Amino acid sequence: MNNPYVLRVFEDFKKINAGKPEYIQACQEILESLELAVEKNPAIEKNRLLERFLEPERFIHFRVAWLDDAGNIQINRGYRVQYNSAIGPYKGGIRFHPSVNESIIKFLGLEQVLKNSLTTLPMGGGKGGSDFHPKGKSDNEIMKFCQAFMTELYRHIGPNTDVPAGDIGVGGREVGYMFGQYKRIRDSYDSVLTGKGLSFGGSLARTEATGYGCCYFANKALEVLKNESFAGKTVVISGSGNVATYAVEKTIQLGGKPVTVSDSNGWIYDPNGINLEVLKDIKEVKRGRIKEYAERVPGSVYTESKPGNPTIWTIKCDIALPCATQNELNLDDAKCLVANGVTIVAEGANMPSTLDAAHYFIDNGVIYGPGKAANAGGVATSGLEMSQNAIRLSWTFEEVDARLKGIMESIFMNIYNTSKKYGIKENDLLTGANIAGFDKVADAMLKQGLF
Ligand code: NDP
Repeated sequence: MNNPYVLRVFEDFKKINAGKPEYIQACQEILESLELAVEKNPAIEKNRLLERFLEPERFIHFRVAWLDDAGNIQINRGYRVQYNSAIGPYKGGIRFHPSVNESIIKFLGLEQVLKNSLTTLPMGGGKGGSDFHPKGKSDNEIMKFCQAFMTELYRHIGPNTDVPAGDIGVGGREVGYMFGQYKRIRDSYDSVLTGKGLSFGGSLARTEATGYGCCYFANKALEVLKNESFAGKTVVISGSGNVATYAVEKTIQLGGKPVTVSDSNGWIYDPNGINLEVLKDIKEVKRGRIKEYAERVPGSVYTESKPGNPTIWTIKCDIALPCATQNELNLDDAKCLVANGVTIVAEGANMPSTLDAAHYFIDNGVIYGPGKAANAGGVATSGLEMSQNAIRLSWTFEEVDARLKGIMESIFMNIYNTSKKYGIKENDLLTGANIAGFDKVADAMLKQGLF
């Protein structure tokens, strides 16, 4: 960073957010990109738009008390950040994971503002969650927790105010329990959550959307920048949750070969290509661990994640899709991928690459698609779910999927055109994504008067 205004904003941000490393990392990555925009548009500094953009409109922190199956009282922390509503109601997922804290929620909220802006749909940015750990909990405990969480959250959300969805640890089951509790308390059948079950207002293709969207985005980037596609390519995918599973599915449909999946304990390498049926049975039906894959599929190998063991990123591939969690891919991993000839890294997860890893990809000519662009298919399809709820109609799977594909391709083209306008390197989709996302929000903020 060189621009004095941008530097000053970052120094102040670090001071007031000391002890929040993920939040500072996300801010740094965004500010580095926005220098170009600041230099081109003096109105940004004059109106203190960076400072206003970086400060969330509202941050809510609440207690969630619930009873476990043994009758013991459990207490967790709940959060919601309502980051920016300049272009629409706050929108963003809810994460249940023991690592959730203010830093994680705020970094996710900040990224969400730009992501939602890129989708072209009228959605502001928000994010929420709890340090509740769903792993090992009974179905009854999950329900009790979701009900207790919504008993506080309901007063802050609404179909025209804030519309949450799922994220890590929150899938269709959890969204269903939260929706039921909201409806019970409010006595109103509102489109207040997305990712709902198909029998009560959910959209076809929402489950698949983030993973599919990531592949559509990467495929378009390959086509425009390299005149290539997924066909015949080896693809390394991390994670084995919602995003990873449907990235595996779409990779296969596009003619690529996904050779890995992982969870927080270890990773699978299957040189014959991941068997989707087995993956879904282990993760979606049995809610099991990825280790079981190696026990069921001959020729596949399981490697435990521990210091000294090779990481998933040591596998040679053409395309890498990190789809697990933040900071899962560091500089050493990036060096491995580049040495092995990776062409594109498209992020299904939010901020899975550390900042130095992202720089390394860009500096070494790898096409780098940041999460806020590459994984926007989930929230875009949530936006389509809101549209269907509003007109009280349901579109077919094919209709939603076609719109999703169109949105992902236009996100890529928007970034590509922004990059051209600002003279940014073609493979650097990060700078273009940040500028394109910010421009729209900043314009709306200016035109709506001071807030
Ligand atoms: P899930 O809970 O369905 O799956 C998360 C996966 O990541 C699991 O396989 C989990 O393994 C793994 N994981 C979690 N933490 C770690 C870790 N520290 N190291 C290695 N693996 C880990 O979540 P999603 O698939 O929904 O979300 C994945 C990512 O995609 C997140 O970054 C999320 O924010 C992002 N995202 C999700 C969207 C969606 O629509 N769901 C939309 C846009 C972004 P384990 O079971 O061991 O914890």
